[in-house]
Amino acid sequence: MSPRRNYPKGKRPQSDEREIPTSNQSFEEHDDGLYIVRKLTGSGATKPYRCPGCDQMIPMATPHIVAWLDGDEDGRRHWHSACWAKKNKRRPNTERTRNAPRY
Ligand SMILES: [Zn+2]
Repeated sequence: MSPRRNYPKGKRPQSDEREIPTSNQSFEEHDDGLYIVRKLTGSGATKPYRCPGCDQMIPMATPHIVAWLDGDEDGRRHWHSACWAKKNKRRPNTERTRNAPRY
């Protein structure tokens, strides 16, 4: 018998992952959830991406970060390494006040 526990969100054991190569991959807890973070060398990048941290393009063949919320791989984003590091440190208070409430 192996009792199956429901781990609280964001606390599930790493051994759960099977298909994704874990070499450059890690998990980071952020305010909005658990992120899977993968470091790309850039060699596989075939098109530029827009970094959500600074809203600038990441040029092709540039080492950068791909991250997505656990369970939402479709929503993955490409980040400059520096921008991702900033996000992880807890963003400055820009985001909270920038968007006016919508009706
Ligand atoms: Zn950036």
